[in-house]
Amino acid sequence: MSVLEILTIPDKRLKYKSLEVTNFDKDLEKTVSDLFDTLYASGNGIGLAAPQVGIKKRLIVIDLKEEGKSSPIIFINPKIVSSSNECSINEEGCLSIPGYYAEVKRSNIVEVEWEGLDRKKKREKLTGLMSICIQHEIDHLDGILFIDYLSNLKKKRAIEKVKKYKKNNEKTS
Ligand code: ZN
Repeated sequence: MSVLEILTIPDKRLKYKSLEVTNFDKDLEKTVSDLFDTLYASGNGIGLAAPQVGIKKRLIVIDLKEEGKSSPIIFINPKIVSSSNECSINEEGCLSIPGYYAEVKRSNIVEVEWEGLDRKKKREKLTGLMSICIQHEIDHLDGILFIDYLSNLKKKRAIEKVKKYKKNNEKTS
């Protein structure tokens, strides 16, 4: 079990485009289990993308923990194949932008194709919180953060908030 360090803005590595996973080996299994350990250790996170811990792979773990029930899902090489025109605006946060929340507009429904650890292809229409979460996480694989959808002023505020958040955490730990 390893809890990895989560990169925070303005770390440049969060802006990299991640690469397709091609080796479905023991290393990949270990990375997946480390990602879940890191996600659960965060306390409030529901999704984590590999680039958030400095691993440049198209790999995401999600556990919405809806109604207190754990339901971990692994998304390898996920792709959005279609998205609904109907959108909604929801407040989002990010483990790489601790202490900052803002409203982001996203499609209500997305059809996603991905591979599992067994290399089998899956394709599903995702709705609700899962839809928002997978869009947010796939953005990470392309080096996009939710604050990239906001004005420059709000982006600056986010960076300031994270600085403050990290300072306060240093004091208490
Ligand atoms: Zn995020």
